[in-house]
Amino acid sequence: MLKENVDVLIIGAGPSGCVAAGYLHKNNASIKVVEKSLFPRFVIGESLIPRSMEHYEEAGLLDSLKEKNFEKKFGARFIRGEEVCLFDFSDKFSEGWDWTWQVPRADFDNTLAQEIVRKGVDVEFETEVLDVKFEGTNSKTLVKDKDGNLKEISAKFIIDSSGYGRVLPRILKLDAPSSIPENSSMFAHVKDVNRPEGREGTLISFDILETKVWLWVIPFSDGNTSIGVVGPTSYINSLSEDKTEALKSVIQKSDFYRDRFEGVDFLFEPHKIENYSCSVTQLCGPGFTLTGNSSEFLDPVFSSGVCFATESGMLSAKLFLRELNGEKVDWDKEYTEYMRRGVNVFATYVKEWYTGNLQTLFFHRPENPDVKRKICAVLAGYVWDEENPFVKKHDNVIRNMAHILNNEKSAQ
Ligand code: FAD
Repeated sequence: MLKENVDVLIIGAGPSGCVAAGYLHKNNASIKVVEKSLFPRFVIGESLIPRSMEHYEEAGLLDSLKEKNFEKKFGARFIRGEEVCLFDFSDKFSEGWDWTWQVPRADFDNTLAQEIVRKGVDVEFETEVLDVKFEGTNSKTLVKDKDGNLKEISAKFIIDSSGYGRVLPRILKLDAPSSIPENSSMFAHVKDVNRPEGREGTLISFDILETKVWLWVIPFSDGNTSIGVVGPTSYINSLSEDKTEALKSVIQKSDFYRDRFEGVDFLFEPHKIENYSCSVTQLCGPGFTLTGNSSEFLDPVFSSGVCFATESGMLSAKLFLRELNGEKVDWDKEYTEYMRRGVNVFATYVKEWYTGNLQTLFFHRPENPDVKRKICAVLAGYVWDEENPFVKKHDNVIRNMAHILNNEKSAQ
């Protein structure tokens, strides 16, 4: 069997793996990426948030993305019947990027992967991790390429960025139930032939059909648009078994988008993902970290998935590089505690979305510009800024404020 030796093995060439690879390569670490699929490959997760731009920049990958002219995203619009709440990332509490992109992920991820290959990173596509054995922090990983050849890769460290492949959580039995209610989704792309001219046509929107059921509309710069529905698994499973009919029936329920997508065919049969939220018992261990969806995925509602994937990929890379250079790293504090802090903030926002409390704040009129700027910073991904009371006191501020607003309304 072939054998190979590297400092860091990265499993998966999604955004998380590519950002980690870009940063480590830039800092001269010996690395290898193994990726099960042949790129481009389809994956969902098309609405980015501004914080992730910092990661592409630090990994040296931003310029390659800029060249692609993806649709720019300057904020997000939430719709509930006739009510509209528009967030503008340039008007947010925390410092940081005020725009990002909405992207077809096949193209976006392929751009990242091809850029790390161009820079000289050794990426083996169509090569799947079958097994991993640890001896202390050192590991031996068994991989199989598309022709069935086996290889053993020895590494000082593994960054598991395998997304829903969840390689190490499966092998090391680290799966844990999510704290988020069981939701499912169905989605497809359309050629957006009725797209209105100007800003309306390219605006990303989340249309609330019922408190727990919402539709996403994500226009891309190539003229196609992604449409998806999210709701409790029982709701999604109550729709027609014919996925095309099911998604069309949900679009019909949207007063805002019904006409735009009337009679427009899907470019592929809608995909359905059931009970997508997942978690793990630990985020790292001797000789490895779990990043992105290989660790925790909450919910699509605030588009945090890719940002957490790149945040955790980048942090893993930075911390391991320090260790490689002889520094002591406190992984529990510097990795687990840090990541959990950010995830917990978003988890509260997701939960409060589905209780309806956050929707109460979004659609309350007149708007409170100060509250809006603070929530906007969270939606942009700045969930570690403890100066922001909507970060620091996340576990009760939304609930308390919604309670006051609801009481005021019923007293009127
Ligand atoms: P991925 O992008 O999934 O990459 C993992 C890679 O690992 C894959 O290429 C895979 O082929 C490879 N791999 C798997 N197993 C192996 C193996 N055994 N060996 C080698 N390679 C392997 N996020 C957002 O930010 N915005 C959104 O709008 C959004 N919408 C979503 C909607 C839905 C319905 C769902 C379910 C998720 C959504 N997400 C969204 C989340 C987003 O999809 C993920 O958070 C993001 O793709 C995670 O990136 P990643 O790099 O961790 O994993």
